[in-house]
Amino acid sequence: MRDRLKTVLLARDALSDVPCDDLARGLNAICKHLRFTSHPEPVDLGKAPIANPLTYRFVAPLTKPLLVDHSLVLIATELPYDNNYFWDSDDEVAIISFWGWSFLTNLPKTNGLVGFLGRILAQELDPSARHDTNTGCVYDFLWDKRGIDAALRSGAMCRECFGRVRAQADREHARRLRLFDCTMAQSLEDLMVIADEVSQASKREIDILARWQTKAGVPQDFDVFLCYNSDDRASVRELFRGLQQRGLTPWFDEEYLRPGIPWQRELEATIPRIRAAAVVVGPHGQGPWQQVELEAFLREFVSRGCPVIPVFLKDAGGTPELPLFLRAFTWVDFRKTEPDPWGRLVWGVTGVRPDQRCVPP
Ligand SMILES: [Zn+2]
Repeated sequence: MRDRLKTVLLARDALSDVPCDDLARGLNAICKHLRFTSHPEPVDLGKAPIANPLTYRFVAPLTKPLLVDHSLVLIATELPYDNNYFWDSDDEVAIISFWGWSFLTNLPKTNGLVGFLGRILAQELDPSARHDTNTGCVYDFLWDKRGIDAALRSGAMCRECFGRVRAQADREHARRLRLFDCTMAQSLEDLMVIADEVSQASKREIDILARWQTKAGVPQDFDVFLCYNSDDRASVRELFRGLQQRGLTPWFDEEYLRPGIPWQRELEATIPRIRAAAVVVGPHGQGPWQQVELEAFLREFVSRGCPVIPVFLKDAGGTPELPLFLRAFTWVDFRKTEPDPWGRLVWGVTGVRPDQRCVPP
């Protein structure tokens, strides 16, 4: 049984240098509903020009298993399409070609990738829409590929297309999309944000990543995920501050979960960027693994080979019985002062013994 939302996976081949990781992070920060992750390694698309269905069949052994967790796999490449398209798709896989990009526009490929993502989303909202001439609308077919420059700068839907898609999204607002794991209404809301971001960056001729980096709130990588029973929140906040003071970046839901966003989805997008998990047991005794969803997240850390550290806070009562999957891990006990629990916790998270670690003054 699977109850988690599927994410859009951003990937590239070895020829492309599009920073998928940064783009996924930035997109997660601007989108309210859609969630993005990045593929860790370059994808092999072969050496020949991209052809549909040939290349899509070639890459299927890799992409098929990915579609269990992802609703759409987007692959950026420098290889040309045999028909000179920018992009094409086969079911849940879309390959985007940046071949000859610098002859068409001086805008960064990062802006281009986010722009194409918007176009794929627009096409799923209304598969029948298409302008055969270049109008600057996301529904331009771009027979003349030079139109991409103006399209990225305008970033928008024309009035006619917006009216039609808006009406359709109102009529079928709860209908879920296939390539994006959310509803029509949610997709349209995020599409407007994506299109606006592409336009804002492209009009100023700046990299969309630079635009996002200057905006507050784009999260970074985290050292440790704090998993706890919500009754112990006050004590966990102290632990969070203590870790910060020791130069670590802990992930604490109170700090990083935006209100109004389902936390499972936000957390799922963040988890690949967290290096360890601390399972906190506080005065309320019950372990956080008693919540089914949290247990699933902890299992994910275990399966990724990340350290999972049971932590007993100083005001924790008796030692609860750890679930089987946590019993192999050494715990850190703040109820004792020897050995120094802070040193042990930092060691567990970073893998560096405290006496070998340079702590900034
Ligand atoms: Zn239009």
